[in-house]
This record gives sequence, C-alpha cells and structure tokens, in this order.
Amino acid sequence: MNDTNDLDDLYQDLILEHTRKPRNFRDMPDAARHADGHNRLCGDKLRLYVKLDNGIITDASFKGAGCSISTASASMLTDAIRGKTVAQAERLYADFHHLLTDPTPPDDCGKSLGKLAAFSGVRKFPVRVKCATLAWHTLHAALAAASAPDSEPAPISTE
Ligand code: ZN
Repeated sequence: MNDTNDLDDLYQDLILEHTRKPRNFRDMPDAARHADGHNRLCGDKLRLYVKLDNGIITDASFKGAGCSISTASASMLTDAIRGKTVAQAERLYADFHHLLTDPTPPDDCGKSLGKLAAFSGVRKFPVRVKCATLAWHTLHAALAAASAPDSEPAPISTE
C-alpha cells in the first residue's frame, strides 16, 4: 500500500490552489437561482448561485463548507461556467460526470473540460467522486429550476 502516490495523483497542483484560495466564494443576494447540495458520505455542504441574462450565465458563486476536493471543484466550476449558456453548462456537467464515473469516458470528454480535467485522478477514489461532483449536481439542480416555465424563454441562438 502506497497512499502517498495516490494522494499525489489526487491532489494535483491546480486542485490544491483552488482549495487554498477558492474563487467566487461569496453569497449572491441577487442571484437568479440557487440550489443546495449535500454530500452525506463526506459531509460536504454548499449553496451554489447563478445569475442569468438571456440564457447566459453572467455570474456564479458558492458558499458552504466541505473537504478540499468539493471546495476546489465548486471553485473551478464557478470559473468555468461564467459566460456560458445554460446548454453549454449542462454539457460541461455531463462531460464532467462522464469523466469521473464512466469506466470508458469518451475521448473528447477531457478536451471539452479543459482545466476541469484535473479531477480525472479522482476517478480512482469512488468516495471522493461524490465530493468532486457535488457542485455539478447542485448546478444542475439550479439550472433545472432556471429553465422552469416561470419566465418566457428568450430565443437562444444555437451556433
Ligand atoms: Zn468531500
């Protein structure tokens, strides 16, 4: 058993950096939508906020308390989805989920994820996968609420 090597893989520099200095770690009182996520296995809890303008995510932030992986994942998520359409963010959610949980993720999966692919090392730690995907499941819930028919959907160009 060599736990040290595994941890080296798991805590890559990028993840460490986001753990130390989480981006967009703040409440957003004027958020269009928010959702709460709770990973009972680890105890991670977070609230994710998104601001929307015409189907585009103009801002995203989070608050909460969790382990380093869940915090780094939420931090990188809020950076990654800013400026994306809801559809693009949902696509990232699907790709991220594939990368971490699919035994044979599609080849182009890592490419679309960019920096988020740093979490691929978490695949080897099933318990930690829940930590890494928590923010994404929470985003999915927030966006699902956002697409509820309580406001007239604006035409979104699909180029
Ligand atoms: Zn965790």
